[in-house]
Amino acid sequence: MDKSQILKEFSADPEKYYNVKLFQEQGFIRKACSKCGRFFWTLNADRALCPDDGTDTYSFIGEPPTTKRFDYTQAWKQVEEFFVKNNHTSVNRYPVVCRWRDDLYFTIASVVDFQRIMGSKVVFEFPANPLVVPQTCLRFKDLENVGVTGRHFSSFCMIGQHSVPDLGGYWKDECVDLDFRLLTDQFGIKKEEVVFVEDVWAGGGSFGPSLEYFVRGLELGNAVFTEFQGELGQHSTLDQRVIDMGAGLERFAWITNGTPTAYDCCFGPINEKLFNTIGIDSDSEILKKYFTEIAKEIDHYDDLNDVRRLAIKNAGITDDQLNKMITPLEGIYLIADHLRTLIFAITDGALPSNVGGGYNLRMMLRRINGTINRLNLKLNIDDLIDTHIDYLKDTYPELDEKREDVKTILKLESSRYEESKIHMKKKAEKIREKGVPSVDELITLYESDGITPEYLKEVDAITEIPSQFYSKLSDLHQSEKKKAITELPLEELPETETLFYKDDPMEFEAKVIKVFDDQVVLDRTSFYARGGGQEPDLGSIAGFKVVNVDKHANIIVHKLEGGVPSEGNTVSCKVDEIRRANITKNHTSTHIINASSRKVLGSWIWQHSAFKDDDHARLDITHHSSLSDSEVQQIEDEANDMIKQNYPVNIDYYDRGTAEQKYGFRIYQGGVVPVKSVRIVSIEDKDIEACGGTHVKKTGDIELIKITKTKRIQDGVVRVEFVSGPTAFEYVKQQEIESKQKVQDDIAKQALEKLREENKDKAREQIPTLLEKVLAGESGEMDGITVKNKICFTSSDSYDDYFHQNFGKKLTSKDDTAAYCGIFEAGPTIRVMVFSGENSGVNAGDIAKEISTILGGSGGGDAKFAQGGGKDTSKKEQAIAKAKSMILG
Ligand SMILES: [Zn+2]
Ligand SMILES: [Zn+2]
Repeated sequence: MDKSQILKEFSADPEKYYNVKLFQEQGFIRKACSKCGRFFWTLNADRALCPDDGTDTYSFIGEPPTTKRFDYTQAWKQVEEFFVKNNHTSVNRYPVVCRWRDDLYFTIASVVDFQRIMGSKVVFEFPANPLVVPQTCLRFKDLENVGVTGRHFSSFCMIGQHSVPDLGGYWKDECVDLDFRLLTDQFGIKKEEVVFVEDVWAGGGSFGPSLEYFVRGLELGNAVFTEFQGELGQHSTLDQRVIDMGAGLERFAWITNGTPTAYDCCFGPINEKLFNTIGIDSDSEILKKYFTEIAKEIDHYDDLNDVRRLAIKNAGITDDQLNKMITPLEGIYLIADHLRTLIFAITDGALPSNVGGGYNLRMMLRRINGTINRLNLKLNIDDLIDTHIDYLKDTYPELDEKREDVKTILKLESSRYEESKIHMKKKAEKIREKGVPSVDELITLYESDGITPEYLKEVDAITEIPSQFYSKLSDLHQSEKKKAITELPLEELPETETLFYKDDPMEFEAKVIKVFDDQVVLDRTSFYARGGGQEPDLGSIAGFKVVNVDKHANIIVHKLEGGVPSEGNTVSCKVDEIRRANITKNHTSTHIINASSRKVLGSWIWQHSAFKDDDHARLDITHHSSLSDSEVQQIEDEANDMIKQNYPVNIDYYDRGTAEQKYGFRIYQGGVVPVKSVRIVSIEDKDIEACGGTHVKKTGDIELIKITKTKRIQDGVVRVEFVSGPTAFEYVKQQEIESKQKVQDDIAKQALEKLREENKDKAREQIPTLLEKVLAGESGEMDGITVKNKICFTSSDSYDDYFHQNFGKKLTSKDDTAAYCGIFEAGPTIRVMVFSGENSGVNAGDIAKEISTILGGSGGGDAKFAQGGGKDTSKKEQAIAKAKSMILG
């Protein structure tokens, strides 16, 4: 939808869309900016320009319009106090990891907290009305501005003021009145300083007018009145009109302090700590001048570097000041900002990785590490994490609980970065030699080697990151999400009654209401349809085999084999009870393994995906490393302890909003739940999930869980495979048999080895006797050696290297008409050794070479002594036959 078109339409009728009671009461005048033409409302009759173009832009730096100073946390206390005093409920922030929406990785605005997707529609669910929320929002598209512009953050607190007028809340008049009084009464800003600018908002099929409010050129908030739906001109009023006022808490703190940057008053004591570390005076006049210039010019240029250059010139910054003050300052602000974002994200269960939202987090930490290296700073990250959390914990106590987890993850991630540097450096060298890589090459580098374009830029292997890189990368990952939807003739069919959520009979009667191909729809069914990673029930319907069960919206479709019943018939149905019982045990076990992993490994453990069949199951968890044997054992022990405790598994239905408020967003382990009433499966307080699967009544019913295998399947995801119930006992039994067999095999192997050694010892002792016989001219078989006129051959495994060496050497040195050839196994190879007396007529080298070739190896030596061999044991017999014929003729 064209926003400028809507604005034109709305501004043409200001009485209807913008003129609120406050404007009339206070005597606000509506004006058009003499520069850009936009309409704004002001109490100052002399004002000709809108806030963006005004001469007072950013004049609060060094000269704030308030008498009181509030830092970041104090500013929120002021805002909260004001709204609570005015009958708002103050709700806690929602997680920054947006688990209730599958189209967003992170929470990007306060209103997102209350949006739920139902089909293709966005619906609002507010836990209170009206309300105010200090919502931490993550946005990564302006990363290059962070630390440089004085006002861009990778995460910021959006003060969300929300009201639904038709459910007892208020509408425009009261909203604008409240926002005005927040600025003037609560913060003490003069009425004349406040300017409202007419604007519109459009998105997700709806739109409405909005009033942005500014003080000295700084936009403090934007009150959006979401009012209409459809296309402009043919639009209608929404069933549920909503006020979405979002204001930047960082800016409220900034305007009351008038510091050179918003960073100076929003990170608490962390800046001072960092300034002291490198010795910067942040309070100098130069900085005020420089950052005021940056603030004024930022919106007038596309390239940030141009803005920076201009500000350096206008503020009269010398090279020395630039290097010793501005550059390190930008670095410090970046570190403070990025670290704060990482603390929120990790607290809420996100992990830095190469995939999805984790990508941005890894990037942030790499930028922190890169900055520390570049500026050669000696910083203790743990110490900085403590400083941040100590400062923020009054407003966000949940950060305090995850303090150590945040440290663990960041330490691990930093050490990985150091380890990967050597590899990345080599790659970067190659790229520099090869020339500028294409976008596709950059994507391959990132996906296969984990090399980010940021790193390549940092080491000057590329000069800039192509703008298509991120969009292309996100497209690639997006397409994986799409699923093929098959069209089935199910229109007009009623919802299937799901007996498995009721008394769950394993045998039942049902009416056939639709048959197509080999598929059957019943009016009611106990067959659980594939869903939530749980495999379907099998069994029979009217005597025909059920081979698959799927759910399409609210209709369950059974696929049969061998025939189908007729539509309209009442048929008897039978669910495979044993299969169902096993699947059910595996499903509840998945919840147990999830809880156990979280307890053993850390709070960042979430279900990534899961699969439950009757004879095996797996749970993929979000974890940073492969699991050690001892970790696996601890998880298994923990799981079996939960079984031993025989906890009840409770199932309750809640209104979605109530469930979220009561249990938090941990309930969305299996992803988003697109229904209003959610089914909460809880095992005491150990594990509470929204889940539609089948479950045992008590954990004791599972009897036993055994983890069979674990594997790191992708960056940040570990797969845990396990069995439970009878399969687990079967597995244990099998393990026992295997280990017993192994013990027996080992004993047999040792006995055989011993026997061989004994035989070899015996053989060595026989050398003199055998020599005597051969030299005496005896022919025939002697202890596995074939002798023909002093020419000897053996392939008996009674003889070893030592025997062949000694016997052959001694024989041929005592009689130059004698010769000897032995073939024997030595480890994985088959070896041949040949000795020949000068006048024996045998060429040792020829034989060794020929035999080695047969065995796939090589041989060497001369006519008198040669040896060789090869690994191709399948040719052993052929080699023996050949050797025998070559030497004995
Ligand atoms: Zn203007
Ligand atoms: Zn489940």
